[in-house]
Amino acid sequence: MIRIDSYVDGAFFKTDNTKYNDKIDPRTGQRIKEIAICSESDIVRAVDGAQLAFEAWRDLVPAERGRRLVELGRAIRKNGYRLGQIESEETGKPGHEMPALIALAAEFFEFYGGIVNSMDGEMIGRGPDYHVYTRRDPFGVIGVILPWNAPLHQACRAIAPALAVGNAVVAKPSEHTPGSLVELARLAVEEAGLPPGIFNVVVGRGSVVGPALVKHSAVQKISLTGSVRAGQELGKLAAERILPLTLELGGKSANIVFNDCDLDAAAKGSVRAFTWNSGQWCAAGTRILVQEDIHDSFVEKLVAEVKALRVGPGADATSGPITTKAQYEKILDYFEIARTTGLKCAVGGKPLSGGSFGNGWYVEPTIYTGVSNDDVLAREEIFGPVAVVIPFKDEKDAVTIANDSEFGLSAGIWSRDIGRVHRVASRLEAGRIVVNEYGGGFVQTPCGGFKQSGYGREQGVDALSHYTQLKSVIVRL
Ligand code: NAD
Repeated sequence: MIRIDSYVDGAFFKTDNTKYNDKIDPRTGQRIKEIAICSESDIVRAVDGAQLAFEAWRDLVPAERGRRLVELGRAIRKNGYRLGQIESEETGKPGHEMPALIALAAEFFEFYGGIVNSMDGEMIGRGPDYHVYTRRDPFGVIGVILPWNAPLHQACRAIAPALAVGNAVVAKPSEHTPGSLVELARLAVEEAGLPPGIFNVVVGRGSVVGPALVKHSAVQKISLTGSVRAGQELGKLAAERILPLTLELGGKSANIVFNDCDLDAAAKGSVRAFTWNSGQWCAAGTRILVQEDIHDSFVEKLVAEVKALRVGPGADATSGPITTKAQYEKILDYFEIARTTGLKCAVGGKPLSGGSFGNGWYVEPTIYTGVSNDDVLAREEIFGPVAVVIPFKDEKDAVTIANDSEFGLSAGIWSRDIGRVHRVASRLEAGRIVVNEYGGGFVQTPCGGFKQSGYGREQGVDALSHYTQLKSVIVRL
């Protein structure tokens, strides 16, 4: 049986006491590998090693760090097929989606490896008697805690800028999907020439790794991508040490469809917005706000688009299974809540089993109509291919409903009226607004949330600042 172990100090790491969990293939329900569960002392060892490696890495000229990161981007592309296979097997993602996700992972290293060369402090003019300037110093060791829905993509967007500015990293992938990140850490050392100890991966549970990272004095910042619950738990611990966090948390994003938009494009885009990755997507557009006068005809279009989806285990399926059993059961619970609260199911609403679905964890892509923004299904993040349709009257009403949420990660606007698009975009409380499509943005566009969706930003040039501390140097001449 294949075993996935941690990768620490440039080598695979396990002890005589390392325990393992079974990994189940979500497409088939079969046991396919075993995944290590690290202990608190394993984390201490990983952070100690990272601390030792940090200074030499920090002191390299930025161009040299950048060159190795660009090299790692190249290694990702070269090994992309295998990385994609590991990730597809562990998450259940259809194989055809992997090349784009792997290319994106590589792009983070290429982007940050390049721009770190142009990140400078500033000169501050205080006359002839002073020489005053700012520097951006790395923190030291950064803890990076990650979810299971897009493992490599989310890892690279945090790890690449953190390494680029001279930090060392101890990353913890989800205990459900660690394989691709462990392999990346090996490639970093063996193919891209990163010094051992600079990029470590510890495999285990958040409830052990989170507190252990916070406790270790060498860890100076943590980036967590995950649920609001994990953000709250980590935030309470981190407050004890005034440890800065970047928190990329959940969402319940509004996707607003105005009556003047290209309705066919909006229907297609709105269905992709909540079914991509089987809805296991933080930015998923799960509240579809539709202008009253087009409501019924637009719902018909949405239903037709959902019926055209191909859910299943195949590499060419439009949607695969749900990645974890717990998540699958959570979605079934929401189907039950919808049934008992009398929501009208326009399409879907059931698990998929038998035939090609075998013992995999599949659910029907689902749309509920006649939903109020106060209903449980409109307020809570489901993290599955489930959307609610909520009617609105006008621009003001749409913005009010969209902003009436504890979350504020993303939002979509469909309209041909350019004035309306910018007015609404300026008023929406969300970290990313996408107009006339519903995608995930680019390496260059900052990503992060308003309200309970988190704080700090990953992606974009700004992420380099989030992994440094600003220092002023004031010299009396
Ligand atoms: P999760 O919160 O259960 O786990 C995320 C990571 O945090 C895992 O590695 C887990 O082991 C760890 N963890 C759990 N409890 C912890 C604790 N107390 N201290 C430290 N670490 C802890 O989330 P998940 O189920 O893996 O992922 C789904 C969630 O992630 C959704 O809410 C989704 O919206 C969110 N997410 C957000 C973004 C974003 O960019 N904002 C991107 C992807 C996923």
